[in-house]
Amino acid sequence: MLILTASGTGGLEATATNLISHGDKVLVAHCGVFGKRWADIAEAFGAKVIHIEFPPGKAIAPQIVRDKLRVERNVKLVLATHNETSTGVVNDIAALAKVIQAFGKARPIFAVDAISSLGAINLPMDELQIDVVVGASQKALMAPPGLAFVALSPRAWTAVKRASNPRFYWDFLSAQECAIENKTPFTPAITVLYALSESLRLILDDGLSATFARHKQIGAKMRAGVKQLGLKLFAEESWASDTLTAIQIPDGWQENDLIYELRRRHSIVVGGGIGYPIIRVGHMGYVTIEDVEIVLKALEEILMNYPVENRNEFLDI
Ligand SMILES: *Cc1c(COP(=O)(O)O)cnc(C)c1O
Repeated sequence: MLILTASGTGGLEATATNLISHGDKVLVAHCGVFGKRWADIAEAFGAKVIHIEFPPGKAIAPQIVRDKLRVERNVKLVLATHNETSTGVVNDIAALAKVIQAFGKARPIFAVDAISSLGAINLPMDELQIDVVVGASQKALMAPPGLAFVALSPRAWTAVKRASNPRFYWDFLSAQECAIENKTPFTPAITVLYALSESLRLILDDGLSATFARHKQIGAKMRAGVKQLGLKLFAEESWASDTLTAIQIPDGWQENDLIYELRRRHSIVVGGGIGYPIIRVGHMGYVTIEDVEIVLKALEEILMNYPVENRNEFLDI
């Protein structure tokens, strides 16, 4: 596993530069903004990208990926996102990995963006035979931003040696040489490493399975509470993420109104939609079930006390 000084996107780009040669066929299955971003990165590095796009709120359907791989010859790389942070959908990476393994020895390399799931939703890389997993310090790993992580399987390392796109700062081979000696080729974000060491200690003190279970419980509580308030979830519930809940903006409300009121009256910061009419409540990492209750109570208070017709009087942005 390599530690790179970069935000998560740097980890995605590093993966693309080390695994793609100009003109390579790269299949990207995506169901939201972050999945699409990885396709854009692959395209920027000269890949011939085959898009399989799924509607926002829905998950990647592994059998559609399988059918496409049967038709397309010589796909070098398959890219997918584990937890699609723009829509609150978690993809079935185990099923996708199985589909890819069925193509045998000549199968494409399978790389997964696990930036907003790593440390919160289980993704046993070796067991599932995923070739590349990308993570970042600032999501469920609850450290400040500044570090990206890329883990590679033996097959992925072979592919890195073969790929011919230019690279320097992101060169995995020189990073690997240094990693063996506990070093990095360039100045690492040392302060973030200290913070990460502490946040990993917190996670490991609880235990990984307890951490995964806590996220499951938090996700379920959030979704149940949202529905109880009469609000609608954006992601299809069978694929709903345990690290983030996307809520549809109720009729008569603008997304910024809810975000503004949560912040002004309750000091709660939630995300807006990136391209979709939703608010996104993150509940990954340093979050408890009590925090979820506080957010639900705040949402209830705002919805009850701001009848839509009077709303503009209260909003004085
Ligand atoms: C946050 C996020 C990214 C981008 O990470 P940055 O650190 O902002 O570069 C990429 N993919 C997913 C799934 C994310 O949640």
